[in-house]
Amino acid sequence: MKPWEAYFRKVEPYVPGEQPKLSKMIKLNTNENPYPPAPQVDEAIKNMDIQKLKMYPDPTSEILVKAIAKNYGVKDEQVFVGVGSDDVLGMAFLTFFGSEKPIVFPDITYSFYDVWAELFQIPYVTPALNENFRIKKEDYYTPNGGVVITNPNAPTSVYENLDFIRDILDHNQDVVVIVDEAYIDFGGESALKLLDEYENLLVVQTYSKSRSMAGMRIGYAIGHPTLIKALNDVKYSYNSYTMDYVTLVSGKASMEATEYFKECCEKIVATRERVKKELTELGFSFPDSKTNFLFATHKTVPAKELFEALRKENIFVRYFNKPRIDNYLRITIGTDEEMDALIEFLKKYLG
Ligand code: PMP
Repeated sequence: MKPWEAYFRKVEPYVPGEQPKLSKMIKLNTNENPYPPAPQVDEAIKNMDIQKLKMYPDPTSEILVKAIAKNYGVKDEQVFVGVGSDDVLGMAFLTFFGSEKPIVFPDITYSFYDVWAELFQIPYVTPALNENFRIKKEDYYTPNGGVVITNPNAPTSVYENLDFIRDILDHNQDVVVIVDEAYIDFGGESALKLLDEYENLLVVQTYSKSRSMAGMRIGYAIGHPTLIKALNDVKYSYNSYTMDYVTLVSGKASMEATEYFKECCEKIVATRERVKKELTELGFSFPDSKTNFLFATHKTVPAKELFEALRKENIFVRYFNKPRIDNYLRITIGTDEEMDALIEFLKKYLG
C-alpha cells in the first residue's frame, strides 16, 4: 500500500443492475420503461437551440422546475431537481441528516441508502420488514435522526397507503421524513397530498421509470420551501450546474406530455396484471405489486437457478444474493411481447 492510500476514503459502492451490451436481449433487470419517451421530447431535442451549448446552463433549472411545479400544482420554491433521483436523494441525505441520532430505513429497501449513510458518515438503523415484507411502523416511533421510506418499496414492490405514511409522519415530527416515490405512478397514491400538513416531508420522484427517461437522468424533490432552499444551498456548495441545457429542455417537454405519460403507465399496469395471473399459474408467488416490476419466488425452483437459466436465453432479470431475498427474482414489466417471451421460456423450463 502506498502511504497516501491510508488517507483514501474507503467506501463500498452501490452496485447498479447490469447493462449488457447485446443487440438482442430482453432486459427486465433495471426497472426501465420499455416504451420510448414522449414524442414531444423528440421534437424538443430536434428544435433545440444548439448555440445555447456555448454557455453554462441555467443553474436554477428554471424551465424544468416551473414545468414540474405546474404539473403538481405546487410553488416553484417547492421543487428541487437533480441528476436522477439518486442525485436528489444523495443531496437530501447530506443536507438533512446531520443529527447524531441514527436515521431509520428498512432492512430490505433501495440498497443505495446505506451506501450514502456510510459515505456521509450518518449513523443508521435498519429495522427488519416483517415476513410479508411489510414495514412494522412501531419501529419508526423511537427517537431518530430522520426517516426514509420507499413507497412502493423496492425491491419488494409493496405499497403502503397514505394513512400509513401519515402515521409515520405523526410519529416523526422533529426530523425530515423522505418518501422515495420512484414507482408511485404505477398505481399508488402520492404523499404529495400530505405536503400542506407536514413541513418536514420531502417527496422524491424520478423520470427514470414512468417517464421513460432513465438515460437522461432527471429526478426531483417536492417539499416545503425551507427544505428546498436547504437542498439548493448544499447543491450550490458542491456543483452549481448539475442539469445541462439538453436535459432541461427535454425534461420540460416530458413533464408537459400528460396524455402520453398516462397512456404509458396504463399500458404497464395492464401488462403487469396479466403477467401476475400467468406467473401465478406457473407456481410463482409475489407481493401485490403497485410498481413496474414483480418480486417473485417459485414454489419449487430456486431463484438463482431461474436467474441463470433466463440469462442463458438473454433474458435479464435481477437477482439479489442477500439474506431473506435470495430466493426472489425482481422482474421488470416490459412490453407485452417481452413478457410473452419470458412466460414462454418459463413454461418450457418448468415443464
Ligand atoms: N429510488 C429507488 C427506490 C429506485 O429503485 C431507484 C432506481 N435505481 C432510484 C431511487 C434512483 O433512480 P434514478 O436515479 O434513475 O432516478
